[in-house]
Amino acid sequence: MSLAPGSTIGIIGGGQLGRMLAMAAARLGYRTIVLEPQADSPAAQVANRQIVAAYDDSAALAELAGASAVVTYEFENVPVAAAEILASRVPVYPPARSLEVAQDRLTEKNFLNGIGVPTAEFCPVDTDDHLTVALKKFSGSGVLKTRRMGYDGKGQRVFRNMEAGGFAGTCEAMGNVPLILESLVAFEREISVIAARGQDGSVAAYDPAENIHREGILRTSTLPAAIAPDTALAAKEAVAKVLAALDYVGVIGVEFFVLADGSLLANELAPRVHNSGHWTEAACIVSQFEQHIRAVAGLPLGSPARHSDCVMENLIGDDMLKVPALLAEPDLMLHLYGKAESRPGRKMGHFTRIERRR
Ligand code: AMP
Repeated sequence: MSLAPGSTIGIIGGGQLGRMLAMAAARLGYRTIVLEPQADSPAAQVANRQIVAAYDDSAALAELAGASAVVTYEFENVPVAAAEILASRVPVYPPARSLEVAQDRLTEKNFLNGIGVPTAEFCPVDTDDHLTVALKKFSGSGVLKTRRMGYDGKGQRVFRNMEAGGFAGTCEAMGNVPLILESLVAFEREISVIAARGQDGSVAAYDPAENIHREGILRTSTLPAAIAPDTALAAKEAVAKVLAALDYVGVIGVEFFVLADGSLLANELAPRVHNSGHWTEAACIVSQFEQHIRAVAGLPLGSPARHSDCVMENLIGDDMLKVPALLAEPDLMLHLYGKAESRPGRKMGHFTRIERRR
């Protein structure tokens, strides 16, 4: 059954992704209520209402469940227990299982390999000795990451051609939390696929974007990616497997490394709308945000077809100074997030430049 116009969608998380979801929901005739501890959050500025409380505050969760016909979220570190409490009262999409999988890099890699989606090789690391053994296994090179709560390259350390030993204190410096060492992938490029699965099991996958990161933060997404058609198809098929295995409803983002022979290794999945899918709002009739709202509301998915080639670029910190010049360009769509204060490394907005109409 689809959600009647005028119904309320609950959104956990008040950042820019929640903001763009709330805007898409409004265009489809829905109301939104945001749960977010920070007052006047980017999402709350455009939603109908904000509950200012922690994501695991039980009174706030009860209030959100009572006020919403369906609940979704804009970030993957929503406490699984909170999603489960909500799910006992109101439909929650995507399912709590996808949070569990995405919150821990070890669980995520085991899940992906278990459904036949290859990843980089990996080893759990809890002590400096584990690290010594694991690095030896990967010939002295690897990326050490915190298993949980890492994002935008935070909580990561790269090792290249290390001799054995000398790692005393590494685990402590990483915060004495569970870690994972991944083999260092010599990728040719990085791509991501944004796809949606509806309540009827239908899947709509957008074309892969080619992504450039700097200091662990996404800078640009370019469409089309410079990959062979077979590689694009394989990436979409891998994402369809992930969606089916999780009995997923909503939009997902999956990042891949593309190797020199065109083969793919999945890096990370995000059970939500994704920064590398922002281009869809300018180059597709139905954006990833509308697609997510359609899915959680039980509406038919829209076409993921792309009517233009484009480049999306994030506006980070002082990039905001470029805004007047950007607005003077003809084929450019600007999106700012309503954040009062610009800080280095903070995502303030993005723009999509249409390169060529197809
Ligand atoms: P992540 O937080 O896992 O998305 O990693 C951030 C960025 O670090 C990725 O987009 C890659 O550019 C790089 N990176 C992460 N893992 C690896 C790896 N195993 N091998 C090589 N580069 C990596």
